[in-house]
Amino acid sequence: MDEILAATMCDAVYGRLDYLDRLVTDADEPSRAALADTEISRLTRAWRDLLAAHQPDEHGRCPQCSGWRRPRQHPCSVWTTAHQHLIAADGPPAATSGRHAAAAGRPTVAMLGAS
Ligand SMILES: [Zn+2]
Repeated sequence: MDEILAATMCDAVYGRLDYLDRLVTDADEPSRAALADTEISRLTRAWRDLLAAHQPDEHGRCPQCSGWRRPRQHPCSVWTTAHQHLIAADGPPAATSGRHAAAAGRPTVAMLGAS
């Protein structure tokens, strides 16, 4: 995928998310009800597809996030993000794995295991 196509895809996805955010905040009640009928199932399908791609392999590693030289143990950042937003959204930030979480100062799975 070339850079222009990738940028176009990113713009389209962010545009769709912006559109849905505007509908949630600005639309009337019937429009929001229609939104729930169509978009919630679309978003749950998207989450399921994404999580399926990040299911751990027989070694407990994420096949998408692991590199040849650097295996990534389950749960990867996709799973921890899903848990944070779908389960723990009203609580404190969930522990995540990986260098990005550590760099952001968020608790990591390794830090919680050490306590
Ligand atoms: Zn992953």
